[in-house]
Amino acid sequence: MLLVLGILIVIAVLLVLRPWQRRDCRWRQDARKLADGRVLFTCVACGANMALPRGRSPKTCLAGQPQ
Ligand SMILES: [Zn+2]
Repeated sequence: MLLVLGILIVIAVLLVLRPWQRRDCRWRQDARKLADGRVLFTCVACGANMALPRGRSPKTCLAGQPQ
């Protein structure tokens, strides 16, 4: 019974932390600013693009997610 409980805890931790989404994303700020004032970031690791308000930087990796 303790084994089952342990497995459930491990699964819950994996679902919450999602370690597979924490790959090293190396965001580079694109020099071109978007028309609405946001700044475009491009990940050189997976090629994802993210537009964020000025002064913020991406924290997550978008690898494997639909754009
Ligand atoms: Zn990435």
